[in-house]
Order: sequence, then structure tokens, then C-alpha cells
Amino acid sequence: MGSSDCSVIDPATGQRFADVEMAGVEETDAAIARAAAAFESWRAVAPGDRARLLRRFAAVVDAHVEELAALEVRNAGHPIGNARWEAGNVRDVLDYYAGAPERLTGRQIPVAGGLDVTFHEPLGVAGLIVPWNFPMPIAAWGFAPALAAGNTVLLKPAELTPLTALRLAGLALDAGLPEGVFTVLPGRGDVVGQRFVTHPAVRKICFTGSAAVGKRVLAGAAAQIKRVTLELGGKSASIVFADADLARAAEAAPGAVFDNAGQDCCARSRLLVERAVYDDFLALLEPAVRAFRVADPALETAQMGPLISEERRAAVASYVDGAETLFAGDVPAGSGGFWFPPTVLRAASTRDRHWREEIFGPVVSVLPFDGEDEAVRLANDTAYGLSGSIWTRDVGRAIRVARRVDAGNLSVNSNSSVRHWTPFGGMKQSGLGRELGPDALLAFTDVKNVFIDTGP
Ligand code: NAD
Repeated sequence: MGSSDCSVIDPATGQRFADVEMAGVEETDAAIARAAAAFESWRAVAPGDRARLLRRFAAVVDAHVEELAALEVRNAGHPIGNARWEAGNVRDVLDYYAGAPERLTGRQIPVAGGLDVTFHEPLGVAGLIVPWNFPMPIAAWGFAPALAAGNTVLLKPAELTPLTALRLAGLALDAGLPEGVFTVLPGRGDVVGQRFVTHPAVRKICFTGSAAVGKRVLAGAAAQIKRVTLELGGKSASIVFADADLARAAEAAPGAVFDNAGQDCCARSRLLVERAVYDDFLALLEPAVRAFRVADPALETAQMGPLISEERRAAVASYVDGAETLFAGDVPAGSGGFWFPPTVLRAASTRDRHWREEIFGPVVSVLPFDGEDEAVRLANDTAYGLSGSIWTRDVGRAIRVARRVDAGNLSVNSNSSVRHWTPFGGMKQSGLGRELGPDALLAFTDVKNVFIDTGP
């Protein structure tokens, strides 16, 4: 398949505002060949020099935070405050992994008759495939550790959101990264992404997206025993116990699911509330939901913008139609984009489709529970295991429940999931491997053991 153009749409208005050329298989193969050639010299760059280049890349990103953020407001409909954080996150992740080349130490293991040492060798070309919901951070979580460990990188942005990735590739060159070390290839998943999976010179796939495509990537990678990191979907639960600070939990609940219009793999889209405080909690939640500011994402005051596409809007609406809405927020009138109001649904039972499936929109389902055991059972009653929150004043209970909930990222009396220096990733069908933190670097390396005979 050859190259073609793809229209880029502003989701707040529904208007096309740019065209991007999509790579075909031939362009992809040529880019892979360039990245493979660049690998030989990039892996040989002295650790201190590689660190310096990544630090410089971080500084150049820092100098362009406003430009990158404005681009993401336009392309993804993210509120400007969120988009600034996302561009700043790219800078911070680069800075964090800039410390890695000089610290990527192996071990020296005692042996008889010689010296035994281990090396963390880079893999070669790493292929990154990212979704449209957080185009900048998710890309950086892959490319920063991959580059730091000495790999060259090909990044395929999502079809809907290629603009910030393309700009980041330009900024990398401005910072002095050599040609071919970090390349962005806009294209279709089943063309460019699929070629990353089948091409033997791509030695690692770092995929973030739906569980359905992730399974296909994993199956395809098996043919070459290709290394794979997967960050997939979620259906995370917030568990609110009767002894919690209910006012704080209710105030924080809208942000936990409506941030990024719910298009967040960590969205706490199931809200489990202990029956004794169910009515009190909902009474506190309603004003918090109605106060959540859905507005033109370019406004400093916006907390939530539109959904990414009309297709997504229709998919989200299909979960709300026929369900019992407890209360909902508003959307701006007359702007023509892909808007959907923050919506709170009552789950009649755990069989409800909106309770079971990842909606990926600003919709939360509420269900009462009785006691700790039932809370844990309901929280774990899902194929996913990415994130979740536990609200209680009882420290022992918080720790007990955190150990029993099968999810990779939990927070107690908080809804935060992501800090770039702590590990992030899913259990069960939410993923494989971890990004961020100290572990991610090693996922872009293989351990090599070398024995040196010291003679008689
Ligand atoms: P998607 O799986 O449709 O697409 C993700 C990426 O995969 C895109 O770049 C797409 O072009 C590419 N792709 C599609 N088909 C492919 C194929 N056959 N081979 C290789 N690549 C292919 O997902 P989406 O709709 O873009 O994103 C939404 C999903 O992503 C949600 O399920 C969400 O939970 C998940 N997500 C997970 C995380 C996480 O860290 N766990 C983060 C963000 C999003």
C-alpha cells in the first residue's frame, strides 16, 4: 500500500484544519532501514554524550511547551491546562531518562577462574505504536527510555493525532539527535503498525491502545519472539468506604473519570460506594459533577473538552441510551464538535453493559456494596486491572484492600496514577510490562553475560 493523505480534524468544532501524509509499507521499510543503520552509531555514543543529547532534547521541548500545548488543544481537544502538563511531561520524562545512560550498570558475579560481568545491551530498532488519547506523554514514555538505553526509535502516532509527534521529531533534530535515531511515521495501524510487528529489524514493540489490537500485536510478535510492552484498556474502580472523608472523595470523583473527557485508560469509571453512605455520597457528588467545567478547550478555565471524534461520541452515547442517568453536566451550545456531558449512571447490576465494558468517555457507573470482601470481589470482577482508588480513613484497611485489588496502579485517598519516576502498567488484560520509573529502561535491553578466563 502506498502513501496517502489524512485529514486532521479539530474535535471542538468538527472542522478539518490540516492534512498529514501517511506512510505506506515502502516508506516504512525505508525508515526501518535508516533506523537500523543509525543504531550502529547511536549505541556507540558515549553514555555522557547520549545523556547530554537527551537533556538538550528536554530543554528544547521545554522552550516549546506553549506551542506543543496549543497544537494538542487543536488536534485532540484537550483543555489548555492539561495540554501544558502533557508537554511538560515529555520534558520531565526526557530529563529523568537522561540520567540513565550513565547509570545503566551491569553486575559482576563471583566465579572461579575468571571474571563474570553482565551488560544491558540495547535491542536495536524499537517500534512505538501510540493511541490518540494522550499523544505526547505516551510517546515519550516509550521513546525516552528506548533512546537512553541506546536503541533507535520509530514512532507511529494514532491516525487522528499525528501533529505533536511530528513536531517532537523536529525538536529532536534541533536538539542535535542524529538523523535516523528518532523518526515519526504517521500511518495506518494495519499498515505501518503492522509492519513494525512483521519486520525482522524491529526488535521491540511498545504498544498502547485497545486490548483487541494489543492481542493481535502480541500474537504477531510471537513469530519472531519480538520483545513487547503492552499498555491496554481499563475499567478501574474507586471504592468509597463509609469511614472515608466523603466530601473529599466526592469532590475528587469527577476529575477521576471526566478528566480528558474520560478518554483515559486509568479513568475510575466504576464507583463503588458502601451502602451506609450511598445516599449521602451521591448528594455530595451531584453538585461536584454539575460544577465540572466543560468548555472550549482553549479557555484557561476549561476542565473538559470534547471527545476525539463523532465515532467516539456515538459509541459513548450507546452506553447511556436505555440506562438510568442519575445526573449529568452540560456541554457548550452550538459549537458543532464532538461534545458529551459528564454523566453519572446507576448500575442496576454488574451485568449492565456500562458497568462491564470500557466506555472511554465521560460516564461513570455507581453501585453500592456491603463490606470489604464484597468491595474487593466487585472491583476484581473485570478482565482489566490497570488502576483504581481506595477511599478510607482506616490505614490497615487501605493497605489490605490495596494488596487484594488486582490492578497495577492504585491510589489511596487520591486518584493519581502517573508519576514519571514510578512504574506504570496493568495486570490481567490491561497489559504486559511496565513503563516509566526505574524498570522501563530495562524493557529496552537484553542482559548479556560475559565470562573472561583469567588464566592459570
Ligand atoms: P487502537 O488499539 O485502535 O489504536 C492504538 C494504536 O494502534 C493506533 O496508533 C493504531 O493506528 C494502531 N493500530 C491499529 N491497528 C493496528 C494493527 N493491526 N497493528 C498495529 N497497530 C495497529 O486504540 P485507540 O482507539 O487508539 O485507543 C483507545 C484504547 O487505548 C483504549 O482501549 C484505552 O484504554 C487504551 N489506552 C491504554 C493506555 C494504557 O497506558 N494502558 C493508555 C491510553 C490508551
